[in-house]
Parts: sequence; structure tokens; C-alpha cells
Amino acid sequence: MSDELKPCPFCGGTDLDTRYENSVSCKNLDCGGEINLGHHCGPGAIKVRNACWNARPEPSTDELTEEMRKAGADMLDVADMFESSEDLCAAIYKSMNAAIHYRRARDED
Ligand SMILES: [Zn+2]
Repeated sequence: MSDELKPCPFCGGTDLDTRYENSVSCKNLDCGGEINLGHHCGPGAIKVRNACWNARPEPSTDELTEEMRKAGADMLDVADMFESSEDLCAAIYKSMNAAIHYRRARDED
């Protein structure tokens, strides 16, 4: 997975503030594009933050394979449990962080 950030999805700007590992914000003051994963930090935080920032609108239905459609339908119930995409993204981040900690603890045994 590339750690490179895509341009701002709102204005296309490439001048991004990444000084905090839990957020990315567009430096274009007329834009204000930002993601903030709250108090989530630690192992893998930057990768998850970047993945969230790089997430883009879904492809048109024509571009979806049947397999992708089924996977998307299965995930919809889970996604619907969250008020916003940001909440969903933060929950995914928490799960990944927990898995990282769990794997580290397991591998140390
Ligand atoms: Zn922007």
C-alpha cells in the first residue's frame, strides 16, 4: 500500500498538513478539507489516516463486479450502524489498531 496522499478530494490541492498522525487537512484556506480520526494514534495510525484520506467516491455501478456488489451488500448492514463515513472510518481504524496490538501480544508469547 502506498503511503502517498492523493490531492485534496474537494479542491484538488496538493499542499496538505500532515503534522498530526490522526489528521490530514488541506492548506487551501478556501477549502477546509480535512479528516480527523479523533484520539486515534499509535502503530499503523498514519497508514490508516492516509487510507481514509485517499478513499474516493465509489466507482459507478458499471465498474462494479458481481463479487464487489455482494461484498458491498454484506458490509452495508455494518456501515449503516454508523452515523457518518468518518465514524465508520474511525471504527475501522480502532479495529485495525486492536488487531495490531493483539498480533503483537500473540507473537511475543
Ligand atoms: Zn482542498
